Amino acid sequence: MGQRILIVGGAVAGPAAAIAARDADPNAEIVLLDRERHVGFAAGALPYYLSKEIRSLADLLEQPPEHLRKAHGIDVRLGVELLAVEPEKKRILVEVKGEQQSLPYDKLVVATGARSLWPTLPPSNAPNVFGFRSPGDGKGVDGILRKRRGGRVAVVGGGAMGLEAAEGFRRAGCQVAVIEKSSHVLDGDADGFHRLVEERLRKAGARLHRNATVAAVSVDKSGAIKTLTLSSRAKLQVDLVVVTSGSTPNAEILLAAGAQEGPSGSVLVDSALRTCLPDVFAAGACAALPHAITGEPVWLAQAGPAFRSGRAAGHNAATTTGDPLRASVLETSLLRVFDSVSGRTGLDEAAAARFLGGEPAVGRIETTLPARDACFRDQAPLRLRLLFAKADGRILGAQAFGTAGVDKLLDTLATAITAGMRLAQLAGLDLCYSPPFAPLPHLLARLPVEKPGPGPA
Ligand SMILES: Cc1cc2nc3c(=O)[nH]c(=O)nc-3n(C[C@H](O)[C@H](O)[C@H](O)COP(=O)(O)OP(=O)(O)OC[C@H]3O[C@@H](n4cnc5c(N)ncnc54)[C@H](O)[C@@H]3O)c2cc1C
Repeated sequence: MGQRILIVGGAVAGPAAAIAARDADPNAEIVLLDRERHVGFAAGALPYYLSKEIRSLADLLEQPPEHLRKAHGIDVRLGVELLAVEPEKKRILVEVKGEQQSLPYDKLVVATGARSLWPTLPPSNAPNVFGFRSPGDGKGVDGILRKRRGGRVAVVGGGAMGLEAAEGFRRAGCQVAVIEKSSHVLDGDADGFHRLVEERLRKAGARLHRNATVAAVSVDKSGAIKTLTLSSRAKLQVDLVVVTSGSTPNAEILLAAGAQEGPSGSVLVDSALRTCLPDVFAAGACAALPHAITGEPVWLAQAGPAFRSGRAAGHNAATTTGDPLRASVLETSLLRVFDSVSGRTGLDEAAAARFLGGEPAVGRIETTLPARDACFRDQAPLRLRLLFAKADGRILGAQAFGTAGVDKLLDTLATAITAGMRLAQLAGLDLCYSPPFAPLPHLLARLPVEKPGPGPA
């Protein structure tokens, strides 16, 4: 038997690490542990299970343990909770069925992800209150919706998860109220098209309570919540409450073992996913990854970075030959709210100004472009805000909002940013043209080029 690689956390980053480790070292003993009874759960698809665009919860389990065992020779152990890491003894302490065990490792990858933050109210133990993260949450919510078709649902938290949940519930025929403590939805996304997203939400029949938190609840005999009283004094009758009020990294165990702390209580890693502890890697939503432009550590709980960092951590844990795989983030994200899509990539205005040493150095284009050819009546207008360095035209970030083409536009710009492209180079890209999908000239060739700069060497 070769080296022993332990991987803790079986959602996105952990299985990606396990498969990459196997690809890099066919002889390694690879053990994947999770405290739950499943691995590979695609939490991001839960909203589409509510709307029945995805029919079964089982379809959300993307990496069944049997597949990992048979196809990749990975020893998957479920119901195993990590309690401590002892780097000097190169072992971890775990609890299995109430008993403590120690497991030695040659290399360790910690991919314990993130957990939900829960506000003081509503109480988490009421039978009609759920988080929105696990298969259990999906089952619980479904159970109530089956009994109460067209039920009244309150979603606590107007971040991306809350808005996706709100859409899922509306599509399932529910009456939906979103409660957001700040003055607008998507609070963490400084430059987003919040007002436009809020308009779509309202147009689709969801009610939005901004600057509001849950101040009091009333319950029936079974303990189920019947009424929420908000800090704004509004009263909501409810059948179901779903809490999506942010998340925090599951990083305490590694930090207690001596790993360096990153932003928001995450674990700091380098671009090869190494922690400061020997032979210990961290990946996914428990770790902060370096920003692809600034190099600063960024903590975010997203599936794309979790997968990429997991893959790199697994590869790097398994082999020391060749260059290590590296992972970074551009904070690229996309959100569908009914018929609208909004998203971003790269730096926002404040971060761009910090990076360039002042606001005057940041160039900004704000425009509306057609996503389809002029021969279509609905040209699907697309709002774009693009940030670049005035000095050399280097593209730094973008936010977009529309009904079509937003994902394609942002993916193209994320690629351009990664390649260090200048604004003037966008018009020269050979991109798809077909009337239903793109206008001619394509929309990136329509941007006003204020100051063409030299391309990357
Ligand atoms: C409703 C919803 C919608 C989302 N939508 C999107 C989206 O559209 N796009 C996007 O990019 N991201 C989205 N996300 C976020 C994305 O799902 C997460 O960022 C991603 O799952 C992170 O993966 P991870 O493997 O790092 O950690 P997690 O998914 O958090 O998994 C961590 C795993 O570690 C296990 N674990 C934790 N602690 C221990 C321990 N002590 N011992 C043993 N096991 C442990 C847990 O049981 C869990 O299985 C969404 C999330 C939710 C909940």
